[in-house]
Amino acid sequence: MTSHNHPEVNIGLVGHVDHGKTTLVQALSGEWTDQHSEEMKRGISIRLGYADATFRRCPEEEEPEAFTVEETCGEHDVETDVLRTVSFVDAPGHETLMATMLSGASIMDGAVLVVSASEPVPQAQTEEHLMALDIIGIDNIVVAQNKVDLVDQERAQENYQQIQEFVKGTVAEGAPIVPVSAQQGVNTDLLIQAIQEEIPTPERDPDVDAQMMVARSFDINRPGTTWADLKGGVLGGSLVQGSLEVDDEIELRPGREVDEGGQTEWRPVTTSVRSIQAGGDFVDEATPGGLLGVGTGLDPAITKGDALAGQVAGPPGSLPPTLEQFTMDVDLLERIVGDNAGEVEEISTGEPLMLTIGTATTVGSVTSARGGEAEVALKRPVCAAPGSKIAINRRVGARWRLIGVGTLRE
Ligand code: GDP
Ligand code: MG
Repeated sequence: MTSHNHPEVNIGLVGHVDHGKTTLVQALSGEWTDQHSEEMKRGISIRLGYADATFRRCPEEEEPEAFTVEETCGEHDVETDVLRTVSFVDAPGHETLMATMLSGASIMDGAVLVVSASEPVPQAQTEEHLMALDIIGIDNIVVAQNKVDLVDQERAQENYQQIQEFVKGTVAEGAPIVPVSAQQGVNTDLLIQAIQEEIPTPERDPDVDAQMMVARSFDINRPGTTWADLKGGVLGGSLVQGSLEVDDEIELRPGREVDEGGQTEWRPVTTSVRSIQAGGDFVDEATPGGLLGVGTGLDPAITKGDALAGQVAGPPGSLPPTLEQFTMDVDLLERIVGDNAGEVEEISTGEPLMLTIGTATTVGSVTSARGGEAEVALKRPVCAAPGSKIAINRRVGARWRLIGVGTLRE
């Protein structure tokens, strides 16, 4: 891959399991997000699959046929013009992975909601994922009505209307609905056109401090590596603002729990950036868009097994505070999303909640709850700024269900 094709925007692929998210990413990128050879990539893709796709335009064709991912086109195999490279974050559709989907949502600039034309609308995670986009505030949405090859014209139209009905009153109201077959490569051009129009690359302020949401962390050394060859810990995640360069000093918050004379306390960790991997290449500098692998000077024992997932990295002194407890304004859903899941009852003092803030997921115990606000004490602290959105999940039966959204108080 050439180095000018670095992704400039992150687009989430969300929707019910088996509706074709991974197949669609493959059709657009030629990569299969479920399997990656490299250790670092594989690590990221297990929890958040991702693949980069370069959108191009064929100079010999009219729109929308001109939109393509092919490098050459037309009768004379002319070179296509690069429009931009996007990074697809392929959220897992399985219901128990809702928290992962929400962590992914914090690094998405827009989303493609994949809905199968061959099933009634909505299926449980179609609804739940759309709700999550609503909560996190992602409103640049394109709906891909997939698997149209499996249904006849009449059912396709019925299904299309069901989708239109379903998105009414949601953040996806009015979003383009593009009938596609990810498997057969049908209407890929129309889908690219819709994404180009609905999910523009956000304007970035180059002068603000870097802020990276850490979604994963690893030890990339093989067992038995000698001390001299040992590589520092690696962080996987995405920059939400600013730029990061090799040799930059960074701080991670909340950092590490340290024990001093029987007292435990969370302290930020400071290190330097040793290497940056973006879109498969090693680069000297990275800007928002795409997932990064950042090699650091940290002891890999600290980064091993996602130990730093959910943390925030940026220049020392620039990050939001670390919170072990906080008060949030609460907006509850009327009913629990999904089939027969019932009404959402008020939050009560003492109940455990699973909270997703940025890429962090933590369990909090409600210490006080009244009239639209709740105070929670966290098992693991988070680094978050006032105004941050918090996805609130409650245990219902065997699983955590999304029940509402919180906004972090000053
Ligand atoms: P995901 O769970 O949403 O990532 O779904 P996958 O991409 O893994 O697809 C689930 C199944 O649906 C696979 O067997 C795909 O081959 C199949 N599939 C995906 N897209 C299409 C399509 O457009 N047409 C047909 N007929 N099958 C599809
Ligand atoms: Mg998949």
